[in-house]
Amino acid sequence: MTGNISTGGDVDSFCTRCRLNLAHIVVAMVAGAPVRVKCKTCGSTHRFRDMPAERPRSAKGRSPAMRSARQTPASVVDAAEGPEISYSMERSYRPGDVIVHSVFGKGVVQKTLFRKCSVLFRDRERVLVTANT
Ligand SMILES: [Zn+2]
Repeated sequence: MTGNISTGGDVDSFCTRCRLNLAHIVVAMVAGAPVRVKCKTCGSTHRFRDMPAERPRSAKGRSPAMRSARQTPASVVDAAEGPEISYSMERSYRPGDVIVHSVFGKGVVQKTLFRKCSVLFRDRERVLVTANT
């Protein structure tokens, strides 16, 4: 754990939305421990979750995508197959679409929201503006 955590500071937490360990901002603390954090990647606020890696991940295969040894955003993106669609905010996308962003490179659409979708790139997940309705 990082030694010096305070409200407004950075802390690594498991993001329930991105399903990754990511940098978060501490929103609320109780007894010197973060209880609510805000994800710097997707912007969602949720309860602080310590790294799930601390728990033995034996038979509890919660997500089928995690069954292979170690998955990183890069390995997921590299494994994605399909026509690569160039990103445009005027288009709408579906989960599983492989897109190419002029700055972030290749990415895989995770889920769609109103007027945006979350896309996993090789370094991390980002929310992009799209024409999704
Ligand atoms: Zn997140």
